[in-house]
Parts: sequence; C-alpha cells; structure tokens
Amino acid sequence: MKGLDYDKFREAGVIAGTAREHAKALIRPGARLKDIVESCEALIREMGGEIAFPAQISVNHIAAHYCPPPDDPTTVGPEDILKLDCGVHVDGYVADNAVTVDLRDGEGSALSMASRMALENVIAMAGPGVAISEIGRTIHDTITSLGFKPIFNLTGHGVTRWSVHCAPQIPNYDDKRSGRLREGQVIAVEPFASTGKGFIDEVGKAEVFGVTRAAKPKDKLGEKMLEALDYFHRLPFARRDLLRFMSAKEAEQGLQALRKRRMVHEYPPLCEEKGVRVSQHEHTLIVTSSGVEPTTRLN
Ligand code: MN
Ligand code: MN
Repeated sequence: MKGLDYDKFREAGVIAGTAREHAKALIRPGARLKDIVESCEALIREMGGEIAFPAQISVNHIAAHYCPPPDDPTTVGPEDILKLDCGVHVDGYVADNAVTVDLRDGEGSALSMASRMALENVIAMAGPGVAISEIGRTIHDTITSLGFKPIFNLTGHGVTRWSVHCAPQIPNYDDKRSGRLREGQVIAVEPFASTGKGFIDEVGKAEVFGVTRAAKPKDKLGEKMLEALDYFHRLPFARRDLLRFMSAKEAEQGLQALRKRRMVHEYPPLCEEKGVRVSQHEHTLIVTSSGVEPTTRLN
C-alpha cells in the first residue's frame, strides 16, 4: 500500500523469526519463563529491532497473553506445551510470530502439527482476492481433521506501521463474513488448536497494557510515566517494562492513574479450561500480487 516501506516489514520479520527460534531453543524443563522472554527481547534489541509487544509465553491451557510478572518464579514443567509469541517493530513496521513447543508429546505431536499445518495450508492458498472466510475455513478444517478444535474466539489480524492489531480480522473458522484479501495488506495468521471446547476466557491479572489515547497535560501523569509512554508509542507494554523507567511502587501508582483516567486497556491471560492443551503457530504475511510472502519465516 502507498507510503509503506515493505523492506522494513521484512527486516522486522527476520528479527522476529530469529528471536522466536532463539527463545524456542531455551524452552527446556526447569528454565524460568521470565528468563526465556527476557532473552528473547534482548536479542530483538541486539539485532536492531524494538519490541512491538511484550514477548509472551503461555503454558498448557493458557492460549495467549501470559507475560511473566516482574518476580515470576515459574519454570517450564516436563510435560508442558508452551506457546512463545513475540513481536518486533523496525521504525514502527511490525512483525508478529509464534511457535509451539510440546515437551510431553514432542515436536511433531498431532496437537502442535494441527496449528502448524493450518498455518502452512493458509500460506499455500492465501493471496489477493481470496475470501477471508475461506482462510478461516482452511484453518478450521485442517485442525478438526486432526481431531482438535480451533479456538473460535481468537483471531489473526492485520498489522501496519505502529499498530499490532488492525483490519482485517482473520478468523480461525468460516465466519461467513464477506471481505477479501487485497494486495499490499500485511496480516498475522495465528491458528490455535485445542483439546478442549475451542473457547477462551480472560482469567487472572493482566501484565500487558496498552494506552487508548494520547496523554494530555491535564492528565498530570508525571515525567517518568510520560517518558515511558512516549517510548512505547501506543504499542502494548508489560508491567515489567515500566520498571526501566520507574520504581515498582511508581509503576503501580502510574497504572492506577492510567486506569482512573480510563486511558489504559488491560490484556489478561486468555485461557481454556484447566487440563486442556493448546498449540499455536503464527506468521506475518505480506499479500503480494500473486500470493503471500511470510516475513517471519527464516530460510
Ligand atoms: Mn502473536
Ligand atoms: Mn498476532
């Protein structure tokens, strides 16, 4: 699309893919979740990227949006299935991608393959003019043919400069809505496969936040919070990200101030029922004149 620098989407994609594979290799029983995401984010910055949203590591029935709190002691369990999801921006141009590690049933487990094959099948069929509901149907049919459910109330999404979530939504089933892909769009496709019902709820305390409007002088947010918000550019941030700008106490007071002014959106963990296992794979794709170009696939 006019005015967009696609090479920067590609650059962000290579960094996101490299960080994803780096973090994937750190997922071993006994490793601390917090160390894994921090190492992922450190590599993103070392490679010249910035964090488009806090790296997330969601275990077992948690499908998405688990971000370790600042003092999280949680370690990887020997039978866990983990989704590592990280986002990068280069000058605002976003790449979003995720991978699953299934420690109980292995790399080629049916559950992990279900979301992975769904994503590969979309990459093979997507392109300009393709109906978005057909993409949803491809995801749904791939996952159900392997005996699992897609997560119906999670979707992929468009990405653009300075935005991780924009139109179009990419459903994980045929939602019967109209709408077709257009050349120049950039989309993140993220099939989730579940052993449960295929629906998630928000459960627990949010560690990820996004501001919903620009700060005004009358908000009286304080220098440190203004500096932090300026740095995040309205992209999502984690509680622990605030600690680079202020003390833990100031961070809590600052979040409270944002809530009071109704200018913050909170993203709690998105969970299936306990005991359910969920897999997810995600790539960011540029819609080209003849198909799609995955920016986050390394090779
Ligand atoms: Mn993602
Ligand atoms: Mn995404």
